[in-house]
Amino acid sequence: MTDDPTREVMGIKLSPGATNCYLLEADRGYLLIDTGYEWEYRSFLAQLADAGVAVDEIEYLLLTHHHDDHVGFANELLEGVTVIAHEAAEDLLQAGENDRSGGGLLNRRVYYLAKVRSWLTPEWDLTFPPVTLRDDDMLVDGDDDQLLRELGIDGTILETPGHTPDSISVLLDDGTLFCGDAAMSRPLWAGIKYHTIFITDVDQYYESWQKILGSGAKRVYPAHGDPFDVERLREHMGAYSDDSLIERDPITSRYADFG
Ligand SMILES: [Zn+2]
Repeated sequence: MTDDPTREVMGIKLSPGATNCYLLEADRGYLLIDTGYEWEYRSFLAQLADAGVAVDEIEYLLLTHHHDDHVGFANELLEGVTVIAHEAAEDLLQAGENDRSGGGLLNRRVYYLAKVRSWLTPEWDLTFPPVTLRDDDMLVDGDDDQLLRELGIDGTILETPGHTPDSISVLLDDGTLFCGDAAMSRPLWAGIKYHTIFITDVDQYYESWQKILGSGAKRVYPAHGDPFDVERLREHMGAYSDDSLIERDPITSRYADFG
């Protein structure tokens, strides 16, 4: 490994903005896990250049789920890549908007944080340029122990729904887990306890945490925040419930519209 701080044991980490994207070496080129927001593409390209990777070396784009901060500039890369995603992502990607059909924000602090952020970032409206998948793209509809290996990556794709119905994670054989938004470590000061800030289905969410704990995962590399030990999930399992989620603005009773 080099001294380049973007190069860590498991691959290359790029943080063009709010989202960590990870590059894994495949037999042919690289697999990129997630993109950032639509407006972060230039910053992504700059970081990619700093890491010594050419954009046309990216052969695969694995989307952990359809949210705006994960697929924002996917279309910029689409021509040269094969997309890997969950089957449930196809329609959601086509819709170009974060699914808000259920669930809520994690707690009041997260709610007000999101509110402030929406004032400061008017372009943040939970939409993204719709992504239309093609026949050659690869969709999984369950855990998949073959797909990545066929690309030369020693790992498994795990279904980890709960944050969204289409959430998937990548588990490498060495215990490295790229979990998308199935867990996160930013902002811990908002009391998130390694939870994602928005949960669609709490029961499913903790089932995914149980699955992760039983999967052999050791170190979690989230899309938001620094890596952490998988044991943090065991410690905070069940800290939130359906009743504690914020679905409505505590003052105006408007639907809490953030993802
Ligand atoms: Zn998300």
